[in-house]
Amino acid sequence: MTPVLHIVQHPLVHDALATLRDASTSRELFRRMAFRISLLLAADATVDAPWHQITIQTPLGPADGQRLTDDVVVVPVLRAGLGMLEAVLALIPTARVGHIGLQRDELTAVASQYYSKLPASLDSSFVLMIDPMLATGGSAVVALDLLRRAGARNIRVICIVAAPEGIALVERHHPDVHIYTPVVDQGLNAHKFIVPGLGDFGDRLYGTV
Ligand code: URA
Repeated sequence: MTPVLHIVQHPLVHDALATLRDASTSRELFRRMAFRISLLLAADATVDAPWHQITIQTPLGPADGQRLTDDVVVVPVLRAGLGMLEAVLALIPTARVGHIGLQRDELTAVASQYYSKLPASLDSSFVLMIDPMLATGGSAVVALDLLRRAGARNIRVICIVAAPEGIALVERHHPDVHIYTPVVDQGLNAHKFIVPGLGDFGDRLYGTV
């Protein structure tokens, strides 16, 4: 069986990750690195995206080419997933976009849905769910449940830092979903933050610390 956990090892990804982890990184630089790493991770996660053969007329004659199919759907999990969206759309500008709004209770870390707006007919779509921090996996599983109920079958999750707990939960509930991450960190602290992680991704991105 194809492995469902894909560790992205590209040095440019890890260079950007080092900057994102650094507590002294400014908000502006954090945003730039979030864009860069998301673009690189999305390139990896779309390596087997569906395409069709075309013929292009170059100035010197016909050439075979490939075009990505139109049916790619990107789903940021709000709010932190929005920080990855622009980069993914820079690569796939024709993608449809769904939004899933989840918030986690600060005390229990249990995720609940407050918003969901997904494109129609997801059954044959190539779906990229984006959420930078795969911590407990609770939000990811809730979001994946929603995508499944909406008909999605071919789903990839792209994250920037993952915890073993989150990966295990996603694998248990959605064993056919592929996870793309550069790193699996040590684990979670008492507040369900990833250690060493990079802190609260949304707060660092939006300046809400
Ligand atoms: N969300 C974050 O932003 N950071 C974590 O470490 C865990 C969840």
